[in-house]
Amino acid sequence: MNLVFIGPPGSGKGTQAARLTASLGIAHISTGDMLRGAVAAGTPVGVQARSFLDQGALVPDQVIAALVEERVQAADCTDGFLLDGFPRTLPQADLLDGALERLAQELDIVVLLEVPEDELLRRLTSRGEGRSDDSPDVIRRRLAVYRQQTAPLAELYAERGNLRPVDGMGAMDDVADRVRAAVGGPGS
Ligand code: AMP
Repeated sequence: MNLVFIGPPGSGKGTQAARLTASLGIAHISTGDMLRGAVAAGTPVGVQARSFLDQGALVPDQVIAALVEERVQAADCTDGFLLDGFPRTLPQADLLDGALERLAQELDIVVLLEVPEDELLRRLTSRGEGRSDDSPDVIRRRLAVYRQQTAPLAELYAERGNLRPVDGMGAMDDVADRVRAAVGGPGS
C-alpha cells in the first residue's frame, strides 16, 4: 500500500505516520527528516537545503522530488511506503505522478490530518524538540506556506477520490485509531 500524509506543521503528522507505518509494515519516508539528515551530514543536497529549512521555506520541487524518487526504490519499500511531507505543492504532486508512473506504482490513499490553526500555533510554540525552524517567526512562515502551497493539494486528491480527511484533534491514540480506520488497516 502506498500512502501520502498531508497535514500542517504541528498536526502530529510525523508521529501518526510513524505509528501507522509500524503497524502496516511499510516504509516511513519523511522528507523533513531526510533533509535534516542531509543538512547534518553536509551532503550537497544538505548544503543547498539548509537556508530553506532555516527560513521555513520549501526547498525547490525538483530537488525534493529527485530524493523521493530514489528513496521509494529502496528495498524497504517493497511492501509499500508512506510519504510524510511530500508532495507539498501542486508541481510536486505532478512530479510524484511522473515518478510513480515510471516505477509502475500507484498512490492508494492520501490522509489529510486536520487541526485548526490556533491549536497548531499552541502546539508548535510549546514543543520542546528544539528544532531550528520552531522560532515564532519561522512557525508563522511555515503555516503560511502550508496554507498557500500545500492546502490546495486536498482539492486535487479529493477530485481523484483518494483523499481521506481525518480529525487530528484530541488524544494521540484516538487520532491513531481514526487514521487506521481511514486507510482500512489492521484493527480498523
Ligand atoms: P517537516 O519536517 O515536514 O515539517 O519539514 C521541515 C522542512 O523541510 C520544511 O519547512 C521545508 O523547508 C523542508 N521540506 C520538507 N518536505 C519538503 C517538500 N516536500 N518540499 C519542499 N521542502 C520540504
